[in-house]
Amino acid sequence: MEVYFIGTGGGAPSKRGLPAFLVRRQGFNVLLDCGEGTQITMINHGLNIMAINLIAITHLHADHVLGLPSLIQTMGMYSRKEKLYIIGDVKDLLNKVFEETYFEPPFKIEYVDSYEDNELKITPFKTCHVVKSQGYLIEEKDKKNIDIEKLTKEGIKDWRIIRQLKAGKEVIFNGRKLYPEDYLITKKGIRIAYTGDTAICDSVINSVKGVDLLIHDSTFLDDINAKEYGHSTVTDAATVAKEAGVKRLALVHISGRYKDAKIMEEIAKRTFWKSFLPDDLSYYILKD
Ligand SMILES: [Zn+2]
Ligand SMILES: [Zn+2]
Repeated sequence: MEVYFIGTGGGAPSKRGLPAFLVRRQGFNVLLDCGEGTQITMINHGLNIMAINLIAITHLHADHVLGLPSLIQTMGMYSRKEKLYIIGDVKDLLNKVFEETYFEPPFKIEYVDSYEDNELKITPFKTCHVVKSQGYLIEEKDKKNIDIEKLTKEGIKDWRIIRQLKAGKEVIFNGRKLYPEDYLITKKGIRIAYTGDTAICDSVINSVKGVDLLIHDSTFLDDINAKEYGHSTVTDAATVAKEAGVKRLALVHISGRYKDAKIMEEIAKRTFWKSFLPDDLSYYILKD
């Protein structure tokens, strides 16, 4: 899985763009939030907007959603035919904009509350902002792989037997019963969580437990009472990461008030040392 940090700012645009994150996994592309300018940044940097399969919006503040109507209209202009999944409370907004701008998508938009296929699951979780908001958990499903090393050691080479074990069936081999659970290794799927805008809160901590990458609101340094605005400081974000036992923390939604944001990473690392401050257009690769 790869995560592209398209816009790592928040509120008003600064030299960091407005929130948008692209998660790519084996041809399936998920866009998390779509601030103004998202499509322009993507097009200018060779990220294919037509390849987006699903868009998940965290809440209806302008900085997270105003890039969406224009992105969809461009997909229409390029004659997209594939269905687009959308999670988030944006149906009324989009229909209103489409109506007022004489646009009708030439492809199907399916509004869903969550998404699941054979390989991937995307589910919302409650966040704590000043308006209705939700974060998203993107999870690869666990995979069962056959333990070839063990089979070889025991002299089992017959592919018909291996296939049966892989399918979860018991097999008789040389008069001995083989149980599939003895020959299957579970490969844990990668998990990513994105909060959108949120103050530090238990709902987030409980929902993002142990994820491989947490992308968390880190709007302010500790000079501001972030909670009052439904946001987090970098220390809040690092505290959530620590308490939830995540593997890595990306600090995003950085306020434009900080001219040199590098200090944010240093401060976050005091609480959670596996914190990093991604720049716009940087990316992060998660391997099995
Ligand atoms: Zn925001
Ligand atoms: Zn907001």
